[in-house]
Amino acid sequence: MSQAESPRIIAVLNQKGGVGKTTTVANMAAALAAAGRRTLVIDLDPQAHLTIHFGADAESTPSGCYAVLTGAKPLSQAVVQSRPNLRLLGSGIDLVGAETELVAEVGRETILRNALEPERGAYDAILIDCPPSLGLLTLNALAAANEVLIPIQPHFLALQGFGRLLQTVLLVSRRINPALRVRALLLCMYDSRTSLSSEVKNDIEKFLASARQTQSPWAEAQIIPVHIRRNIKLAEAPSYGKSIFEYEPSCHGAADYWAVTQCLFPGLTKPAAPEAPAPGRPAETEPAHETQPPQHEPPNPETGA
Ligand code: ATP
Ligand code: MG
Repeated sequence: MSQAESPRIIAVLNQKGGVGKTTTVANMAAALAAAGRRTLVIDLDPQAHLTIHFGADAESTPSGCYAVLTGAKPLSQAVVQSRPNLRLLGSGIDLVGAETELVAEVGRETILRNALEPERGAYDAILIDCPPSLGLLTLNALAAANEVLIPIQPHFLALQGFGRLLQTVLLVSRRINPALRVRALLLCMYDSRTSLSSEVKNDIEKFLASARQTQSPWAEAQIIPVHIRRNIKLAEAPSYGKSIFEYEPSCHGAADYWAVTQCLFPGLTKPAAPEAPAPGRPAETEPAHETQPPQHEPPNPETGA
């Protein structure tokens, strides 16, 4: 993979719903922050799942993203400190309106990029969680990013719509952001026991191989050699407002996300296992929320219910 710019600005994108975008952003960001990288996560999805995953308030209006996109606040005033080394530009339902409100705005695709410009020195990595669509919010993510990471759930029809996704990246790279590259594809909820998983993987590998000598933004894209296995702990952690490293640091999901983050950010040093919190420990080293029963049943990843 080629030398990366600083800060790395990664749009995590797939217009297919429920493939693991938010889970990937939340846990990669948590790994980066724990390893000492100054990290910003941007929740560009009106569903606000990333905001909720970090235990932050998804009800406050205007949401951080809405305030930035409408020019009400500079980014530095719209972010909240979520964890040590980890800031969040949160989302909320008001973002639904942003797409229509900005439709007549000149330069509406580059609002986020311009808002990030004065903040570039403040971060080592910026991860953007995109909504499951290719609308204006996603265009803002692609205009601001220097890399695209595509999570894929290897099931039937996994690659349906993949061409449209790549065409969108191509269009943005031609018109707005020539530096944009598809860096990697990440197989999420991977089940090595099914032949379908390996078939989807083979199809993608063939496709990427055919693009190697071209000028396309995905000519150097790779399938990350570590796959995210299906792990119920990953589905439970958001209900507690926690990353997988806070919720269940010894599970497969934590190991997979740590390994994937190391693949994408070579040289990352894994922090020592945290000690059990001592009574009276300072507030900023505590997780954002105490462990408490989930407000609702953790979603079942098999059924999506
Ligand atoms: P959307 O398109 O709606 O934003 P998404 O692509 O962001 O969805 P996620 O929200 O990350 O997808 O994941 C979809 C569901 O699957 C969530 O309930 C999540 O907790 C669960 N999930 C994600 N990854 C895994 C995994 N590896 N194992 C088990 N469950 C998972
Ligand atoms: Mg999501």
